[in-house]
Amino acid sequence: MHQLTLAEIARGLADKKFSSEELTKVLLARIAQLDPQLNSFISLTEDLALTQAKAADARRAKGESGALLGAPIAHKDLFCTQGIRTSCGSKMLDNFKAPYDATVVAKLAAAGAVTLGKTNMDEFAMGSANESSYYGAVKNPWNLEHVPGGSSGGSAAAVAARLLPAATGTDTGGSIRQPAALTNLTGLKPTYGRVSRWGMIAYASSLDQGGPLARTAEDCAILLQGMAGFDPNDSTSIDEPVPDYSASLNGSLQGLRIGVPKEYFGPGLDPRIADLIHNSVKELEKLGAVVKEISLPNMQHAIPAYYVIAPAEASSNLSRFDGVRFGYRCENPVNLIDLYKRSRGEGFGPEVQRRIMVGAYALSAGYYDAYYLKAQKIRRLIKNDFMAAFNEVDIILGPTTPNPAWKLGAKNSDPVAAYLEDVYTITANLAGLPGLSMPAGFVDGLPVGVQLLAPYFQEGRLLNVAHQYQLNTDWHTRTPTGF
Ligand code: GLN
Repeated sequence: MHQLTLAEIARGLADKKFSSEELTKVLLARIAQLDPQLNSFISLTEDLALTQAKAADARRAKGESGALLGAPIAHKDLFCTQGIRTSCGSKMLDNFKAPYDATVVAKLAAAGAVTLGKTNMDEFAMGSANESSYYGAVKNPWNLEHVPGGSSGGSAAAVAARLLPAATGTDTGGSIRQPAALTNLTGLKPTYGRVSRWGMIAYASSLDQGGPLARTAEDCAILLQGMAGFDPNDSTSIDEPVPDYSASLNGSLQGLRIGVPKEYFGPGLDPRIADLIHNSVKELEKLGAVVKEISLPNMQHAIPAYYVIAPAEASSNLSRFDGVRFGYRCENPVNLIDLYKRSRGEGFGPEVQRRIMVGAYALSAGYYDAYYLKAQKIRRLIKNDFMAAFNEVDIILGPTTPNPAWKLGAKNSDPVAAYLEDVYTITANLAGLPGLSMPAGFVDGLPVGVQLLAPYFQEGRLLNVAHQYQLNTDWHTRTPTGF
């Protein structure tokens, strides 16, 4: 039963082959048995899950239907869950029980999804390896000595290991697409504003976006349907109708114009990944797509711009964690300044502290123009590059990451080496565009992802291209040994 996709689960529940309660029990037992190897969960919510599963079964018995009614999922532990620990992977929030549900959590619960637990993540979503979590590193089910990617590494590892069919993640600079690539999943970062950020603990508010992680594009369509939509509580949420994503999966790729940026194939890319990307292009050509080389000339400036803007926003967002209002407070403070300093010094881990310092420096009066303002100008140039490219092509295709999953600890002493792994993903966040990563093969037994980018609100196009590709390839069906 643990091998079923969301789409198969929906059919099985509708055909009364099993109940949501039975399925939930199977998956909870599987998590208890296998997760100690992976560390993909921070909290399990067994009681809530069984209550929700029984309620979903009762709704189905009364004749209700719906692709998510009774479907087991988990939430990255930065989505607020009422009365349940919402840690953000940090000691700072280890004792924090959210007083309300994030919009995404509430919407999925209303659609009948069953929450099995809260997944592990990089502290405050800062990282690409899931090694900065206060709750310890997550292991990649494809090779337990390797990282699963981050920051949604717990969601990715759990879904890849078939502990559950799908999970939520968030993507500020690649944190859905990159762990999806490194664990052989399909992951979608929606257009900025498509999914509500209300109740999603902020890292960099102008870049953060929630989205689905699952094994197939078909399942991403189902989960995104439950997450997307206007939310008056989020002033950056966009009041556009949500299309039927599952209905968008049947389009022909005949004549689809695919742009492959020449800048993506520079010396930093593992040549074996380049080969797999070219194979995926050929596969799409067989389905009728036409391929064209394009240029994104400002791409080389993306990492420096992102690593100014994201820390700048983080330094502001994380100022609320002061030992007074939320979470951790140091022992016996002697005065208010001591309380602030020690609560933050003891509550935040080293990567979070590094980002806060970089961000505060970039925003300081003397350096604002040189760093923050400059980075914002680069951001506009990157967006303009994409707008020009999308005048010529329908989607942009390239690698999701320059390398496969690295060994645990390999980049710990060199944060910049880890930042360089984000080179292909961060531009979509800087421009606010939707992006998807899907399985494209293996290097040394480790999964490789191909990334697709589309114009604003064309999530349906991304899902359709990925679905057509998955109907003709079987990379996404491969299961890691031992799971
Ligand atoms: N790796 C990037 C960072 O550390 C992206 C993280 C994310 O998308 N949350 O900022």
